[in-house]
Amino acid sequence: MELRKTFHIEAAHSLPKVPAGHKCARLHGHSFQVEVVLEGPVDAELGWVMDYADIKAAFRPIYDVLDHNHLNVIPGLENPTSENLARWIWDRLQPSLPLLREIHVAETCTSRCIYRGPGGEL
Ligand SMILES: [Zn+2]
Repeated sequence: MELRKTFHIEAAHSLPKVPAGHKCARLHGHSFQVEVVLEGPVDAELGWVMDYADIKAAFRPIYDVLDHNHLNVIPGLENPTSENLARWIWDRLQPSLPLLREIHVAETCTSRCIYRGPGGEL
């Protein structure tokens, strides 16, 4: 069974490695949508894979670092593309959520990337 929980993060960034004149080189903000996808068996007694509240609690320290921040100043996010942000979140979340299967990062309603962990990259 698959569980998905969505978080919203307001943050600013600029992309330092894009070609000269690219609009993403300028400081700007996004209402990032982060979706955490887990997969595991349904506990026969409890009737769930895990408590959504436990997903929220595991994500909390990550949220506290990212929300209303300038992503470029966060160690490891000097080039804060959606792809790098997805990997950064995975690396910090996976140790406490072993059922983690995907991290989705959407910086707009129409642009989203999905990271499936080391070895699971498309
Ligand atoms: Zn951007």
